[in-house]
Amino acid sequence: MPEAKSPTLQQKSAPQKAMEKLGLLRDIDLALHIPLRYEDETRIVPIGSGREGDTLQCEGVVSECRIELRGRRQLIVRIEDDSESLLLRFLHFYPSHQKAMAVGTRLRVRGELRVGFFGREMVHPAFKAVDEDTPLAQSLTPVYPASAGLPQAYLRKAVAAVMKRAPLQELLPAGTVPRQLPPLREALEFLHHPPPSASLATLEDHSHPAWQRLKFEELLAQQLSQLQAQRERARLKAPALRGARGGLHEQLLDALPFGLTGAQQRVVEEIAQDLALPQPMHRLLQGDVGSGKTVVAALAAAVCMDAGWQCALMAPTEILAEQHFRKLVQWLEPLGIKVAWLTGSVKGKARQKMLDAVADGSAGLVVGTHAVIEDKVQFKQLGLAIVDEQHRFGVAQRLALRKKLETQASRGRGQSMEPHMLMMSATPIPRTLAMTYFADLAVSTIDELPPGRSPIVTKVFADTKRLEVIAKIADAVEQGRQVYWVCPLIEESETLDLKNATETHAELSAALAGHGVGLLHGRMPPAEKAAVMAEFSANRLSVLVATTVIEVGVDVPNASLMVIEHAERFGLSQLHQLRGRVGRGAVASVCVLLYTGPLSITGKDRLRAMAETTDGFEIARRDLDIRGPGEFMGARQSGAELLRFADLQEDAPLLKAARALAPQLLDQHPAAAQAQVTRWLGSKVEFLKA
Ligand code: ADP
Ligand code: MG
Repeated sequence: MPEAKSPTLQQKSAPQKAMEKLGLLRDIDLALHIPLRYEDETRIVPIGSGREGDTLQCEGVVSECRIELRGRRQLIVRIEDDSESLLLRFLHFYPSHQKAMAVGTRLRVRGELRVGFFGREMVHPAFKAVDEDTPLAQSLTPVYPASAGLPQAYLRKAVAAVMKRAPLQELLPAGTVPRQLPPLREALEFLHHPPPSASLATLEDHSHPAWQRLKFEELLAQQLSQLQAQRERARLKAPALRGARGGLHEQLLDALPFGLTGAQQRVVEEIAQDLALPQPMHRLLQGDVGSGKTVVAALAAAVCMDAGWQCALMAPTEILAEQHFRKLVQWLEPLGIKVAWLTGSVKGKARQKMLDAVADGSAGLVVGTHAVIEDKVQFKQLGLAIVDEQHRFGVAQRLALRKKLETQASRGRGQSMEPHMLMMSATPIPRTLAMTYFADLAVSTIDELPPGRSPIVTKVFADTKRLEVIAKIADAVEQGRQVYWVCPLIEESETLDLKNATETHAELSAALAGHGVGLLHGRMPPAEKAAVMAEFSANRLSVLVATTVIEVGVDVPNASLMVIEHAERFGLSQLHQLRGRVGRGAVASVCVLLYTGPLSITGKDRLRAMAETTDGFEIARRDLDIRGPGEFMGARQSGAELLRFADLQEDAPLLKAARALAPQLLDQHPAAAQAQVTRWLGSKVEFLKA
């Protein structure tokens, strides 16, 4: 009979749950949970030897233990060694503390030394009762990244147990690891329990060979997963989209009210070449805000529809999707193309009609939010999927899209055909990131703005100047200019003292009597949002007070002034996106960044960057500097940090070695390569392919 498990054994303890939350599921996850820092409990120093601020371990006998009632209630303990006495203060304590530190007990304490009015003291030191011969730690004590409900002691035990039982075998064939790096087990043992002689400096700055080994392993795993994804994709088939019916692309070009810029012509050509191939395109179109990506998308769609296949265009918000829809209808319907409109708010009969048109192929182009890829939507034959502002789609949505595209694959010539994919973004991927994370992503860049744009002047003011700014706006509105006023949040929150958008709306309405002031925020029903947006586009509203719903893609060329309140609370690329809403016409545009002090260092850096440049690539580079790659890629929110150990810039030589080894390993030792990816990336593999 199988041994019955007691119910308590099956239930997870709080620390176990906390470990799972941190992603510490497999033995290897624990083995790779590297200490944040170390404490030196290998030696005891005389109480009298340290200086203010030093973290020390001392030992002494308790000479006094009492509860102080004057002022703040606290437990006061005094210990003495041969050199001096030390006062221990506990502001939070239990009766058990008093017992454990009764007079005459020998205590080993560890904490930060303060030298105060009452002599030497420590507040809330770690302590334990010892004998004269209680042994000291043999190695530095690790302090692990932990969380509430997960005590260090528990983690230390768990990691130590794993280090004993896990085989941690070398996966990489002999001779492939750079010679100066130690074996993996040795490196891990060193990092978890460094000897007292270890150089804390090289451990802290991660330059120690043990660290280098981990970084190399991680970079290699990451290069391998990229290479795998690339090879998988190369095996897929896609419809070769070449103008079969002919003419649509040219007709659209002729119908446009403007000629393409040189950069637009070039990227249209790059995309058309990819679409003509029988492998799915996987291309990012990057171009600064206002560089004219929409028309490039329309031309790509024209190529696709010309060949008799359907095209889907997805935008992250309804406002943006609607704006695309209007523009594309205006451009394409005169050419005989039926454009369908699918968002969450299209319901009932109207929705069914759209779905039918998509399913029977009569809708050549489908525009919408991610509702376009919902389960119920079935294309007759989807040839091209275009994702606008793709950086705004979350990781989960990007994954869902990829899965959905797989299921939308059509059967052509007896073979499954994947749609081509074009992603558009105004947030360029810096080169190092592109090479590392998007090795198999082709990139087209629009590096030129349409002619006749006048540069945006950016001014940074403290919010004490708010009334003066409002007066300036009144002047501008008098002259017939249109203004965006961006507020960070719609609700008054206790902790964040942010100006409420509705309040600002009321305030500006009063200050600008006789001029239309509109309000746009995320909580409004889509139809209402669209109506306000339409009023503003038609210049029937002079000012649009908005939350960040206007961040993406909104295009009103007559708007030439923008005020961003609490600019210090926005990320750099978000500010750049917002600012890109102005400067779209011929009038000189101004962007005013209002901030509330005091500014953090990164806050200052961001505002300075905004004032100094309007170049999206420069902004992206500085953003990467300020935030680091994980956050830059929006990975932080998803819990999947991209690189835990390596740093792309600092570890460039290791990256180079890893990149050189990856193809060789994948070809000659595919099993080892797979094991390497699983060990290091685990559940993140999926994310990296998105
Ligand atoms: P983004 O790249 O930010 O998506 P849009 O596609 O919204 O930019 O284009 C911004 C504005 O520039 C739109 O009003 C668009 O019609 C206009 N535009 C695009 N290309 C050109 C061009 N070659 N010449 C003049 N105006 C253009
Ligand atoms: Mg756009």
